[in-house]
Amino acid sequence: MISALEALACLRDGNRRFVAVRSATTPLASQARRNELVTGQEPFAIILGCSDSRVPAELVFDQGFGDLFVIRVAGNIVAPSQIGSVEFAAARFGTRLVVVLGHSQCGAVGATLEELLGHATTESKNLRSIVDRVRPAVEPLLEGPSRGDPEALIRAAVLANVHASVDQLRHGSALLERLIETDGLLVVGAEYSLETGVVSFFEGSSPP
Ligand SMILES: [Zn+2]
Repeated sequence: MISALEALACLRDGNRRFVAVRSATTPLASQARRNELVTGQEPFAIILGCSDSRVPAELVFDQGFGDLFVIRVAGNIVAPSQIGSVEFAAARFGTRLVVVLGHSQCGAVGATLEELLGHATTESKNLRSIVDRVRPAVEPLLEGPSRGDPEALIRAAVLANVHASVDQLRHGSALLERLIETDGLLVVGAEYSLETGVVSFFEGSSPP
């Protein structure tokens, strides 16, 4: 398995190809490639991304079948099943890079802001379980400098939500903490821009 930094370089290169519309992968795997993958997989990166239809991880990183272990959930939130999925891939396949991939104009983050601002309420307890996980990272921003500027507010909220998920993955699991401390596992945040197609990585991933 390649190291976390090598994996990060592959994702950066892939995103550059995506932005330049110069794919190195074929959209469909060949029969031979699918056959290879029947007996095993070695995904080189784990991506926790949003379900948004405009942010398909394999496409924005120009990767093919078997390359990425992708977990998608609205708002790229971290709940126990997401942590378990990351643990599974990191332990089973030896994958050493985890990327939390947020994106501009995220609807789940927007819905949380709407609710915090009193413009809407969520009736469904299932949807509420998502909003409630986004809320703690976003709520403090309503007291900050972007309060009166809706565009600045959603931008800051998307970043805060990515950082919160990174933090929860880094500290929400004894197994992942051990892999980070002793085995080269790296958890980084990133944001995909719907406007430009560029993925910006936050390698330090400290809260903004
Ligand atoms: Zn989203």
